[in-house]
Amino acid sequence: MNAAVAILSVGDELVLGQIEDTNAAWLARALQAIGRTPGERRTVGDDRRALADALRALASTHAAVILTGGLGPTLDDLTREALLDVVSPGAALVEDEAGVEHLRGWFERRGRPMPASNLRQAMRPPAARLLANPHGTAPGIAAEAGACRIYCLPGPPNEMKPMFDNLVAPGLRDDANVVATAALHSIGLGESALAELLGELMVRGREPSVGTTASDGIVSIRVRATGAPDVARRALEETVAQCLSRAGSVVYGRDGEPLASVVGRMLAERKLTISTAESCTGGMLGSFITDVAGSSAWYVGGAVTYANERKIVDLGVPAATIEAHGAVSHETAIAMARGALARFETDLAIATTGVAGPGGGSEAKPVGTVYVAVARRDGDVFSRRFHFPGDRTTVRRRTAHLALACTRFLLLGEGARSLLWSEGEAVRVERA
Ligand code: ATP
Ligand code: MG
Repeated sequence: MNAAVAILSVGDELVLGQIEDTNAAWLARALQAIGRTPGERRTVGDDRRALADALRALASTHAAVILTGGLGPTLDDLTREALLDVVSPGAALVEDEAGVEHLRGWFERRGRPMPASNLRQAMRPPAARLLANPHGTAPGIAAEAGACRIYCLPGPPNEMKPMFDNLVAPGLRDDANVVATAALHSIGLGESALAELLGELMVRGREPSVGTTASDGIVSIRVRATGAPDVARRALEETVAQCLSRAGSVVYGRDGEPLASVVGRMLAERKLTISTAESCTGGMLGSFITDVAGSSAWYVGGAVTYANERKIVDLGVPAATIEAHGAVSHETAIAMARGALARFETDLAIATTGVAGPGGGSEAKPVGTVYVAVARRDGDVFSRRFHFPGDRTTVRRRTAHLALACTRFLLLGEGARSLLWSEGEAVRVERA
């Protein structure tokens, strides 16, 4: 038996992937917010036997189980029968008086006759109690199986959430303990390279725990500490500091802070402006930058120059450069960035040009080949060649993120640093 709380999601539509299981993710976060550790998570279809088996198994290894779904009036709603099989095997469901009252009142207030089938929702195992549902017809059910507390909540999230907050959380809350979490976001290293730097901090079973997750080139370090509030928070910050010192400058932000807002803050602090010259990202980079409120303080604008003609006319890229090296090249990326510096009169400019795919690749420049150049009015231009794995959307998203990362490293004085997915050395061209 451990103190963890299991989450059991019920419904064929979840098993079949017809709807997303948002309840389980919400509950996992809500449990941590009240100091409880989420344990195992399971999903079971509308099958009485399978449901009872899952409930029994989870109840034998957890302090509590929170189940959602299958409490409705229809024949495929089997949660209350399965609960009966677990907490009072062989007994029959009993009608709950308050439950019947609730249902009658619910339909009366809406001026509708109550379908007889709805009375099923007032049934519960003899030793269980109903949890009132002010937002729907299905009451929840609370029961005990040995030392485990079981809470069955309705499936619709707008009914489940308030029932958890008002009727379940107060009984489960662990005031003596909290689960404190922090996320550190990094870009520039792959997940395994970052894990190597973190070393034994990531050993399973360490407290606080340290893990990593990756998405579109951003690798997040997740730290989690459990214990008395002061102790857990102090331990969390100690481990966060250790992670920061080991990971170094690839960490750009914490707890959901977007990369574009970090770059924006660095520009604002230095009183610098920036513009964009985008080919393969088609405006996505500008979009990421303008997602940040207040970005007008540093972002001037940009040009989406998809056709070569536009690179030449709008940015002043010499036609000969494109002819000699191709639109996807260090030379064109550098000329685009310099063109944006001049046209938009900014202190910095970022350019992207590449082959997002699925077509258009060649042996020398396969799909996923992208050049990112960042130019500084008062300094050098750095251009990197990347080779991004993934489909078109992924390549474009990774390009936009890595372009922001290149800008950040330039501002940190690490303009030539080698980055995840970059190929060869960065090309550095002195100020024109
Ligand atoms: P009802 O009385 O509405 O039938 P119920 O407790 O029987 O309630 P289900 O029939 O299992 O719940 O689910 C009803 C609806 O609630 C589903 O169609 C779905 O929209 C939503 N739902 C159920 N489970 C989940 C879940 N795990 N995550 C998100 N939504 C869910
Ligand atoms: Mg239902």
